[in-house]
Amino acid sequence: MSDSEVDEAAVQTNVPEDADVEMTEAEAQDSAAEEAAKHTPRGIPLRVEDLRKEFGGITAVDGASFQVEEGTLTGLIGPNGAGKSTTFNCITGVLKPTSGAVYFEGEEITGLEPHTVANRGLVRTFQIARELEEMTVLENMMLAPRGQRGESLWRSVLPFVRDSVVDQEGEVLERCWETLDFFEIDHLAHEYAGTLSGGQRKLLELARALLTDPEMLLLDEPFAGVNPSLEARLLEHIHELREQGYTFLIVEHDMDLIMQNCEHVIVMHQGQVLMEGRPEEVRNDERVIEAYLGGEVE
Ligand code: ADP
Ligand code: MG
Repeated sequence: MSDSEVDEAAVQTNVPEDADVEMTEAEAQDSAAEEAAKHTPRGIPLRVEDLRKEFGGITAVDGASFQVEEGTLTGLIGPNGAGKSTTFNCITGVLKPTSGAVYFEGEEITGLEPHTVANRGLVRTFQIARELEEMTVLENMMLAPRGQRGESLWRSVLPFVRDSVVDQEGEVLERCWETLDFFEIDHLAHEYAGTLSGGQRKLLELARALLTDPEMLLLDEPFAGVNPSLEARLLEHIHELREQGYTFLIVEHDMDLIMQNCEHVIVMHQGQVLMEGRPEEVRNDERVIEAYLGGEVE
């Protein structure tokens, strides 16, 4: 860089001396709030403590502890067999851990049934089941599981509340269309779910999960079998939802994808948390590189 270029750059980045004077009161308050937010710890919706899961003689999860901060996109990565899916299943109630504890929103949820966990607002995506493949996308949305959170569809099925059934059906339908529109799959509403591509299915799975009014979403390998353009769209939607305040824990084998999209990364290896940190911290860690190289050739 020549001297004159340096001077020019300095001039461009210089803040005018009277900038402070020109700041309105509202602006000053905004920046004070921003400053305060930097120092206020965010909530910790999910906390996993010393989790262990054994299958016969195999220890799939061997004392894993970590937490997920509110409003983040957190990635859980690790080589094949690291224990990611087992951890995921223990958190969501699909498997009962051998020992250890899982807390959601400050309450222990260890060993609760999957639907109870989902009702608390901790929701995982589910693959579209075979019988749902023979229904349309819209019907899949209408049948999305709803718990006690928000409006209970099932309570309103009682005969003495017929009017509210009609009202509620209208509301549910409206919400389904809105969600399909958000994910840009409203044009597929009347297609059979079984005819969707891998990526479109993933969008539908996420759309169905959102209808349950979650606080936090857990995704296990959400990009598996998804073509690059739909992967980009799925990621865009995940980022948008994060900005709306949802928290995400994404379990993924593809390290690069997580590195590029998550602000916090937890690395599992042989059932334990090997390390965690910001992507740039994790990427250059010798232990992580070694675990990935070693894990691939097991
Ligand atoms: P990841 O998702 O990181 O690839 P998993 O959690 O699927 O890893 O698996 C961790 C370990 O536990 C592996 O050695 C796997 O073979 C074993 N495992 C997972 N599920 C079972 C099961 N149902 N029965 C026996 N062993 C299992
Ligand atoms: Mg897995």
